Amino acid sequence: MSTQPPNIVLLGPPGAGKSTITEALVHQHDFVPISTGQRLRAEIKARTALGRTVAPYLDRGDLVPDSLMDRLLRACLETLDPEHGFLLDGYPRTMPQALGLAGTLADYNRRLDLAVVLEVGDDEVVRRLSGRRICEGAGVPFPVHIDDLASIIRCRERGGQPVQRDDDRPEVVRQRLAVYHRQTQPLLDFYDAVGQLRRVDARNTPAEVARAVAAMLSNGST
Ligand code: ADP
Repeated sequence: MSTQPPNIVLLGPPGAGKSTITEALVHQHDFVPISTGQRLRAEIKARTALGRTVAPYLDRGDLVPDSLMDRLLRACLETLDPEHGFLLDGYPRTMPQALGLAGTLADYNRRLDLAVVLEVGDDEVVRRLSGRRICEGAGVPFPVHIDDLASIIRCRERGGQPVQRDDDRPEVVRQRLAVYHRQTQPLLDFYDAVGQLRRVDARNTPAEVARAVAAMLSNGST
């Protein structure tokens, strides 16, 4: 591993907990999180030109075209402090994105150190996402789950409202999963072949998964 903070890609199906783990890890390491899904949703909310273009894709559960994602990624890397590593949550998601990533990173004097995949089965994904709500209106939005009454109460006590993400509707979740299997899963073999893939069992609690990933990063397995 170089002395530079590592640059990590986080892979896994929707609902594997990529954003939750990203949140947990950035508090422990000098990582800058780059969450492409979050950035796209922010563009949609702000009704920018990019937001208007990508909204129909997110609405259907389809991927945004690679050319637009490449521009978005470059804009993120442009402003990244060279002292910090990044944790890419949600990119790459297609073979062309994975193949282009090395070249894009080289333009910013970086290279990828590790691809960590959070593994969880389809049934668990559907359970998690169909019950997932985002607590809005209580500071920084945070995920809650309808099966976890304590989390719903916590949200309401802070004056928040549990809201379903548009793309967490069951028919869109099914489409996102199909897209993951078809377009993103081949990336696992790709990173495995170059010795950069690490697998983590994501059926455990977020704290356990975050610990497993953190241990992987600090024990030099990069
Ligand atoms: P999840 O991983 O749970 O599906 P994200 O927040 O990462 O959620 O992504 C939400 C949506 O944003 C995706 O369904 C897709 O439409 C779009 N998106 C995010 N990252 C990419 C990417 N790298 N390439 C294409 N589309 C993307």
